[in-house]
Parts: sequence; structure tokens; C-alpha cells
Amino acid sequence: MTDPVTTLRQILGPKGWLSGPDAEPYQRDWLNRYGVRPLGVARPSNTAEVAALVKACREAGLDVVPQGGNTGLCGGAVAQQPNAVIVSLSRMAAIGEPDPDGGSILVEAGVVLAALHEALEPHGLMFPMHLGAEGSARIGGLIGTNAGGSQAFRFGMMQDLVLGLEVVTPDGAIWDGLRAVQKDNAGYQLRKLYCGAEGTLGIVTRAVLRLYPTPRQQAGALLVMSDFTAAVSFGAYLRGEAGEFLAGLEFFSDIGLALALKHLPDLAYQLETRGEVYLLVELASGSTRVPLDDILASALEWGMEQGLVVDGALATSGAQRAQFWRLREEQPEGQRLEGEQLKHDISVPPGAIARFIEVGAKICDDILPGVRINPFGHLGDGNIHYNLSPPENRADFDGKAGRFAEALASLATEMGGSFAAEHGLGRAKIVMAERNRSIVERELMARLKDALDPHGTMNPGVLVRSPL
Ligand SMILES: Cc1cc2nc3c(=O)[nH]c(=O)nc-3n(C[C@H](O)[C@H](O)[C@H](O)COP(=O)(O)OP(=O)(O)OC[C@H]3O[C@@H](n4cnc5c(N)ncnc54)[C@H](O)[C@@H]3O)c2cc1C
Repeated sequence: MTDPVTTLRQILGPKGWLSGPDAEPYQRDWLNRYGVRPLGVARPSNTAEVAALVKACREAGLDVVPQGGNTGLCGGAVAQQPNAVIVSLSRMAAIGEPDPDGGSILVEAGVVLAALHEALEPHGLMFPMHLGAEGSARIGGLIGTNAGGSQAFRFGMMQDLVLGLEVVTPDGAIWDGLRAVQKDNAGYQLRKLYCGAEGTLGIVTRAVLRLYPTPRQQAGALLVMSDFTAAVSFGAYLRGEAGEFLAGLEFFSDIGLALALKHLPDLAYQLETRGEVYLLVELASGSTRVPLDDILASALEWGMEQGLVVDGALATSGAQRAQFWRLREEQPEGQRLEGEQLKHDISVPPGAIARFIEVGAKICDDILPGVRINPFGHLGDGNIHYNLSPPENRADFDGKAGRFAEALASLATEMGGSFAAEHGLGRAKIVMAERNRSIVERELMARLKDALDPHGTMNPGVLVRSPL
């Protein structure tokens, strides 16, 4: 019998297989918590090669782990067993010509998000998915995690931006669902099923994505809010006043701002006042006739009159808007450079954000007095990245990471929200899912997995327990 690695090398050609030290960069996840040395890393160059390699792995009993940019935060894109083959889509990075009339584009799953943004710029079109990892995250990984990002409250998550898909199924068949239409009710919504499947039901190889016209004008502001309740009230007011022109509504705390300013010396905070919480607001329109600056200025005035806004600045240029955005986007980096941290990806109904922050703070302080809480995220859809740093005088969490995670997940669940808002479950949150979701919901997922991947070789141990 031929050795499976020889078969895989034959399928993939000389550039298509990495092992030993060459495979090391693919081995550990972004947070360096998961991943063993895989059998090797397959780098196919087209869909036929992906299908052939999945079939060969199935026949040889090897696990298959799809990997995009490996920026996922739940450990879903790395191997758990040494008999696993990581399938990196990095060589499948072709970007088709956009269709301006239909507002769509065909791309391969290995396209890096930032490269797609760049390619669309000259066409006056945009793909409305923005997140801190866009320089590395790839379309297949964004689909795999059903990524959200800062514009999800306006344009939706990946599942709302994917029109069509091509997928290699766990038995090595190719499903061609590359239709460029929004309306397609011919049965189960398979394209949505693969959004958030985290590589457990097959490998996405190509996608038709939905595009929007690039705004011709934008207006931005950085606001100091009196507290989280004020931030939520002001957000609700803005949604009414700015309607469909509201394109960004992000928040961050003073703890996060202080960490970012401490560790990233080129960051500048240009307002005179500091407060408990900050809002970053952006309005955008495809028309140059909409008075965005006026809408924003009068909302700011209203917020000050109501005592919600303590201080604020309207951006006077694109460069200043970008500076404001950096204060929000560097929140994860500032905290990472501070040392050990715990990340929690929570969502609650947007009106309940302030309550979550208030109750969450009490819970965390009871678990470890003085723990530094750095909540930041997407006010528009209630997504809170509720991240913790140890108290000032400690370097660690005194072995209490699990207690924080459990308590915060329960609180989010009680408040009608989610403990896995936009990063997925991966390997990190399976137990949490079992504790916080009904047996009916978990069994439905397990049966889906079992039906589509009966041998359990497609990314085992991710999203559902393995073996089932
Ligand atoms: C600094 C930073 C900021 C972030 N900000 C956000 C944010 O604002 N919003 C947000 O939603 N997420 C955010 N994330 C996490 C987010 O999940 C990823 O950035 C992105 O969605 C993952 O893309 P990737 O290509 O790196 O996927 P990977 O990490 O490589 O993979 C993620 C999952 O998808 C699967 N997968 C990969 N490729 C395929 C494929 N072709 N077919 C099927 N399955 C596949 C993998 O097996 C894995 O389970 C952030 C991460 C970082 C590091």
C-alpha cells in the first residue's frame, strides 16, 4: 500500500506539501493556546486538488483541518492530533472581476480580506467587512467563523454577504453553489449552513460575495460619554437620527484607552477630557448631497444638552477619522502588550449593554478583586469584547480563568445573549456551549455533523465534541 504522504505529494505537486520545520508556522493558533505538529500542511492550488486530497485523507483515515489566515480566536484552525493534515488555502487567492450591475464578485477562499478591499477600490465598490485581522484573515476563514466586525449591524455578518459557495464536502465531492443571487429558496440554505461551520462540514473553495458602492462621503466623531448607559441611549438616538447613514458605532473604555496609549507610543488622543467610556461614530453615504456633518453635529449638540456626551470632536479630515479609528482598533494590541489577558466574546441585546457591564464588573471583582476590565466592541449590535487583564499588582489570574469564563457566559445567556458572538466555538468553547445551550440545540448540531461527515474526519474536536 502506498504511504499516504506519497499520495498527497503526488496530488499536490512539489509546492503543495510542507512538513517538518516548514510546517511550523501553521502549527499553533493565533493566541498560542492550541495545536500539535500535524502530519503536514497541504497547499492545494485549485478545487480539484482540494477534492482529491480530501478523498485521499478519507481513505487513509487522516483528519483534515482547513486553515485560512489562522487568526481565529478559538483554536479551530490547528491540528489536535498528529495524524491531521492542515489544508491551507493560501495558494488559492484569485480575485475575479467585480460585477458592478449585480453588485457581486467571485473569489477563491484563500483571498486575504485586505487584498479584496484593495482590489475593489478602483471600481468604486466595497465589501463591507472590516476587522482588526483583515491583513491576514482569508475569505474561507471569515466564512468558517461567520465573522462580524464593525459594520455587521448595518450590512450583516458573513452569512449575509455570501451569495454563493463552492464547497468540497467531507467525502471529497464538489458542491457548486456559485449562484450570484440573493433570492434562492430552493431548499435548505446550504450557503448559510457553511457560514460558521468552522471547517467541520467541508472546505469552502470559492465564494460569490455581495458588494456595495463605496460611500462618496463620510463623517466621523470621537465622543467622551458620561457612562455606559449614556452611550447606549445616545446610540439609540443616533440610529433614529442618522438612519441608514449610520455606518459605525463602536465603543471602548478608559482602561483600554490607557493600555493602548501606554503600549503604542505613536497613538494620539486629541481630546482634552477623559471619561469612563468613548464612542466612535461614523456616518457614510453614496450621495454627496446628504448633510452628514450637520446630522452628526446636531446629534452631538443634543447629546451634550442631555448630559450624555461630556466632550467630543468631529473629524475634520479623512486622516483624523483614521486616527480616531486607530484608538478603537488598537484596543486588542494594547491589551496584548500589557501581558496575560482573558478574552470573552459576548453579545447581548444592544439595550442591555450597560446592564451587562455593570453586573459583569461586580461578578469579576468578586472573583478576583482589582481585575482590570476592558470592554470594547460594537455598540450597534450589542457585541462586547469583554477582556480582562490581571490586577495592577499581579501578572496572572490566580488560576481563575475558568470561573470568569463560566460566570460571564451564564450572565450573557441569562440576558438573552450569546457567549460566542462572532468568533465561533472552535476547540475553546465546546464545554461552554454544552452548559449554556439546550440539549435539543446541541443534538441538532451533532446530528448534522454526523450526517454530513459520518467518518468524523473533517476538523474533529471543533464546534461539536469528538467522537460524537
Ligand atoms: C486582531 C484580531 C481582530 C479580530 N477581530 C474580529 C472582529 O472584529 N470580528 C470577527 O468576527 N472576528 C474577529 N477576529 C477573529 C476572526 O475569527 C478572524 O479574524 C477571521 O474570521 C478568521 O479568518 P482566518 O482566515 O484567519 O481563519 P482561520 O483562523 O484560519 O480559521 C477559522 C476557522 O475557519 C475554518 N476555515 C478556514 N478556512 C476555511 C475554509 N476554506 N473552508 C471551511 N472552513 C475554513 C477553520 O478550520 C477554523 O475553524 C479577530 C482576530 C484577531 C486576531
